[in-house]
Amino acid sequence: MKEKITLLQNEIEEKLKNVTNLETLNELKVNYLSKKGPVSELTNSLRDLSIEEKKEFGKIITDFKNDVYSKFEELKNKFELEELNKKLESEKIDISMPGMDIPSGSPSIVEKVVEEAEEFFISLGYDVLEGPEIELDKYNFEMLNLPKDHPARDAQDTYYLKDEEILLRSQTSPVQVRTMLKGEGKEPIRMICPGKTYRREDINATHEQEFTQIEGLVIDKKISLSDLKGTFDAFIKHTFGKEVEARFRPSYYPFTEPSVEMDMSCIYCDGSGCSMCKPKGWITICGGGMVHPNVLKMCGYDPEEWQGFAFGMAAERIAMLKYNMTDMRSMHENDLRETKNFDRKEVK
Ligand SMILES: [Zn+2]
Repeated sequence: MKEKITLLQNEIEEKLKNVTNLETLNELKVNYLSKKGPVSELTNSLRDLSIEEKKEFGKIITDFKNDVYSKFEELKNKFELEELNKKLESEKIDISMPGMDIPSGSPSIVEKVVEEAEEFFISLGYDVLEGPEIELDKYNFEMLNLPKDHPARDAQDTYYLKDEEILLRSQTSPVQVRTMLKGEGKEPIRMICPGKTYRREDINATHEQEFTQIEGLVIDKKISLSDLKGTFDAFIKHTFGKEVEARFRPSYYPFTEPSVEMDMSCIYCDGSGCSMCKPKGWITICGGGMVHPNVLKMCGYDPEEWQGFAFGMAAERIAMLKYNMTDMRSMHENDLRETKNFDRKEVK
């Protein structure tokens, strides 16, 4: 019996010496330590021995088994650690390697136009103000001299959210109304309010249902139409270059009196006429006029004492002219062939 144990011990030790990885160690474990393996057999063979012998060999076999198990365990730990180290080595990140170049976005051309306009008007002492995009009919229309039955109010163009009282603002003028109400008829105002507006339009190359308005309002004493012309002239020179000229044509808006269309000289031709300028040689980019006395009154300003001018334009329209675009829709379609060219195409 003793001999048998020594032989088996030597055999296992010999085999363990040659094991180099976890896989062969497991094979060996199955061969020697499974229920039907030689180590279990030794325990089973105790049955045939006398009580005295059982006592003697029982202890020897238990010691032997404990020894074998701990040797297997030791090797298993050793191989597992080796494997982990190998894995860590292969997955090591070299932090000294240069990083990948991730291209970052840039502001849209509409945003650029708005930012440039803000810069310009801030330099003239204007405030840049904001207001809600969901508005009351009262601020979007009524207080701008457009009562509910006014013929110039086209309900088809407006997105109403609730009855005829709450709507998506169709212009940023309600911000002007809110500012005048805050001024309580006492404060002079110089403000622009760039922001999103919504109209129910058929979408085509020059119309979208959502567009960005840049509106401005000045309320003070002794303000005249020539102040508006000077401001508009300076704005287009800032935006399109020193050589452009301004021109006013009479027009009609319910909230201004007199009202004007504001043109700039064509930046694409010498005034002889091209596909961009209709009327010939001039491009209309802005509308406005002197604030209607009714609007002043409704907003708490005495028209005998205060005057003001207001104007509004679409940032998309300015962007199209500045970046030589013929289709407004390409601003939102994320076609890189188009958007990548915007900077190159800038006309100034
Ligand atoms: Zn032209």
